Amino acid sequence: MGLLPKTIYKTMRILKFGGTSVGSPERMKKLLDIINPAEEQIVVLSAVSGTTNSLVEISAKLLKEDKQAALSLINALNQKYNEFVIELLPEGDFRAQGQEVVNYHFNFLETLVNDLFTPIEEKVVLAQGELLSTTLYHIYLKSIGIPSVLLPALDFMKTDEDNEPDVPYTTRHLQPILDQNKGNKLFITQGFICRNSFGEVDNLRRGGSDYTASLIGAAILAEEVQIWTDIDGMHNNDPRIVKGTKPISQLSFDEAAELAYFGAKILHPQSVFPAQKYKIPVRLLNTMEPTAAGTLITNDSEKGKIKSIAAKDGITAIKIHSSRMLLAYGFLRRVFEIFERYKTPIDMITTSEVAVSVTVDFTDNLDKIIEELHDFGSVEVDTDQSIVCVVGDFSAEKHGYAARVLDSIKHIPVRMISYGGSSYNISLLINTTDKTEALKSLHNRLFE
Ligand code: ASP
Ligand code: MG
Repeated sequence: MGLLPKTIYKTMRILKFGGTSVGSPERMKKLLDIINPAEEQIVVLSAVSGTTNSLVEISAKLLKEDKQAALSLINALNQKYNEFVIELLPEGDFRAQGQEVVNYHFNFLETLVNDLFTPIEEKVVLAQGELLSTTLYHIYLKSIGIPSVLLPALDFMKTDEDNEPDVPYTTRHLQPILDQNKGNKLFITQGFICRNSFGEVDNLRRGGSDYTASLIGAAILAEEVQIWTDIDGMHNNDPRIVKGTKPISQLSFDEAAELAYFGAKILHPQSVFPAQKYKIPVRLLNTMEPTAAGTLITNDSEKGKIKSIAAKDGITAIKIHSSRMLLAYGFLRRVFEIFERYKTPIDMITTSEVAVSVTVDFTDNLDKIIEELHDFGSVEVDTDQSIVCVVGDFSAEKHGYAARVLDSIKHIPVRMISYGGSSYNISLLINTTDKTEALKSLHNRLFE
């Protein structure tokens, strides 16, 4: 587990607010309906919604050396922030401070237009969104007389050579700052951004603010991590597709990871692991309805219950048919090595004595992978597939859930079934065109 924190901040909560929760000056001000400045907490903020997308676009123009287009995007975003500051901060000193912050960040972006632009600068550009939102919120709190401490995430969030977050590093670097500020209760910091093993500005990938919150929670052994979004927790099916879905009150870390990965957009999938490893409860809560119970994610798994159904689109299935597989060992290893060489993760896998099917969702290197797989035999590729995943306690299987799952989709062609990989899920691969029907049908049978 590495280094344990010297001081355990068991009364400290981590509260993460996403882009829409800080998406307008009005929403930003409303955070105080939820944040109680009298309680010990670290507030992790995303960039104002839309900002990171704009910064991605600006970088894309700069990478293509389209300076004019980059400049006009920078100006448009700058204008948005000028208006944001006027609405957020009262006329006078605080507004001037806010304007200075905005000018500083946008002048900086403009200077990048005429310099060499590489993926290293791109990371710096992407970091501006969270730097802006947190600094402006900090000034807002000051303007209404609420003391808070702004923590620079770039001083304590770090990834290692394998691009994995370094939790003990965060413990070592965050704790002294918290210890120095013992008299303060409210801390604000940036989600998403970090430094890599070279010390360069980097990030935890899109949606990574959840991950930041969980990593900080783990690093200081916080009491709880709260992820505030605009839905009342994780639902038992996709609310955009199925009517009458309900929030799930409790999930185990494994169930939550499975659901986050296979479709439930509410939580960054990797953010589950630090919380699980360091046993920090995670609560998913709704900014628009702060008193709703939401979803609590802990180590406990409720016995004998089906929790949720989720689906992930954009899946490609690859079947490798090979007589050389018969009675051979080392075959799967050689197949997997090809995917490994092209840095392509495999999601589902099923095997028979003469064939193996796998699914992937990252297809940038698919052509090269298929070419190499042809050495083993024939290769079949199906695109536009979806993985439907049913999560819950399938451990003893005395409830007949597996049979019920299959029975409820017996009218839908199933390309692959994965069961028994863990005791808490069944995954099915179907054509994406059948997804809506599958989700509805499973819902009726398992929950109604
Ligand atoms: N701002 C980043 C993004 O849009 C991180 C986050 O919001 O979680 O991906
Ligand atoms: Mg998010």
